Amino acid sequence: MKRGKTTTFLLELPLEVNAQQAKRVRTHLEAARCLYNALLGEARSRLRRMRADPAWDAARAIPRSQKAARQTAFAQMRTHYGFSEYALHEYAKRARCTWIAEHIDSTMAQVLATRAYQAVNRVCQGKARAVRFKSRGRGLDSVEGKRNDTGMRFVHHPETAGQGFLLWGTERLPARIDLDDAVVAHGLGCRIKYARLVRRNASSPRAKGADLTGQRYAVQLILEGQPLLKSKHRPGQDTLGLDLGPSTLAVVPRQGQPQLLQLAEEVRLDARTRRRLQRKLDRQRRANNPQHYDAKGRIRRHKGQRLRWHESQGYRETRRRLANEARRLAAHRKSLHGRLVHELVRVGNTIIIEKVSYRGWQKRYGTSVGLRAPGMLVEQLKRTVAKTGGILSEVSTYHTKLSQYCHGCGTYHQKALADRWHQCPCGIGPVQRDLYSAFLAAYLEPNRTIPSITQSDWAGVETRLMAVMECLSQRANAGQSLPQSFGLTRAGARRLPSLVPRHQEPHADPLIGSPEAVTLAQEPPRL
Ligand SMILES: [Zn+2]
Repeated sequence: MKRGKTTTFLLELPLEVNAQQAKRVRTHLEAARCLYNALLGEARSRLRRMRADPAWDAARAIPRSQKAARQTAFAQMRTHYGFSEYALHEYAKRARCTWIAEHIDSTMAQVLATRAYQAVNRVCQGKARAVRFKSRGRGLDSVEGKRNDTGMRFVHHPETAGQGFLLWGTERLPARIDLDDAVVAHGLGCRIKYARLVRRNASSPRAKGADLTGQRYAVQLILEGQPLLKSKHRPGQDTLGLDLGPSTLAVVPRQGQPQLLQLAEEVRLDARTRRRLQRKLDRQRRANNPQHYDAKGRIRRHKGQRLRWHESQGYRETRRRLANEARRLAAHRKSLHGRLVHELVRVGNTIIIEKVSYRGWQKRYGTSVGLRAPGMLVEQLKRTVAKTGGILSEVSTYHTKLSQYCHGCGTYHQKALADRWHQCPCGIGPVQRDLYSAFLAAYLEPNRTIPSITQSDWAGVETRLMAVMECLSQRANAGQSLPQSFGLTRAGARRLPSLVPRHQEPHADPLIGSPEAVTLAQEPPRL
């Protein structure tokens, strides 16, 4: 939705609603859900009618080279069938009748119409396959106004500090405001463009600030201007090269300390809890519905027959805990990503990274991408870099091929996925390949495909990269499990002999002293 070109940022404040207010807000949201579904249905049927018209196929048949003719043909179709944002606003005016009008004002109805139109328009443009109606059980979890002077809006008085209310119809929902919090104080000093009410699941109805259905409410203020930049987050001057993997990140600054790390390492424990709950849920489902499983434990499928599953109280409890755990994991990961992003930007906010398809990764490395969310990290990094006035350049992998390049001889050699080290006959290496790609990225000038590296650049960085790997291999030796892609497995098979002396067992090792042992110890890293 176009709302002018000023910059925007968000401030979220928790709402303190009592039981009666919570009940009324739930009713309002239910009305919004009904209206949204009605608008979605109408937009969808307009799209269907438009597409069924033979003129639609005629418009599609116009070659793309005749851009203007194609555009007018499609525009005519849209006007004729009323498939546009504004036509749907008109429909919303009529649909907002009887009982819905008591809950939803006209601006909010317009916003819902826009939302429904955008969802259906994605189907029209082939960006989505279907639209999703909001079920009664799940409901609609956010509604927003359009301006902060009519409809749903937020008011606060600077003189009576610490008081603010979200007004929705006759409702007056107090927000919890802590003016000692610099972020809140800064946000409330900016102009409010519009306000949004958000409903979120809490861990249980007994959680702090939750209503009897176990849900919390918050107001999101959409503000004009720049978010507060805390002094501890002042950007650095360095240039950073990044190499992102499905679950790892290599960072090489031109001057600072390089790093090779696992994304959101600490979510591992959360993931373990989640897996345990998933298994428990499965056991309970099986125990409750033994008739649906065959002797091998597979689900019995009967063609055309829908299975009816029995849910016990315990099963529902586990499911609720699992949902809560998933939410906690996502929140934890987001905060870990945020911390990492700030750490990187503190070193420097000129960042060069290879552009990768996170979609493709999702297909190939679904589990780790789902847990580590590398794409989300890049999104967060982009925002923070933009906020601090830096530059994040995404370079095309296709043109640069940094993972194949060797700066010593200027040649390209494809590496297999299992080759974690770069070593070239020209004398470069051995060096961990992700760190090496990140190093190359750091020296890639804009609009060039070959990094410009002098001998002294490499000499300076090489020792720092060695130190990083030394440190990691010590951790591996100490028994910490590190991602395989680091190239330092505990088995020692691919461990670098120059970095890690072969571990001597006190008792006799049958291989020691034999010719095989010598070859093992002198074996170079896999090339
Ligand atoms: Zn080379």
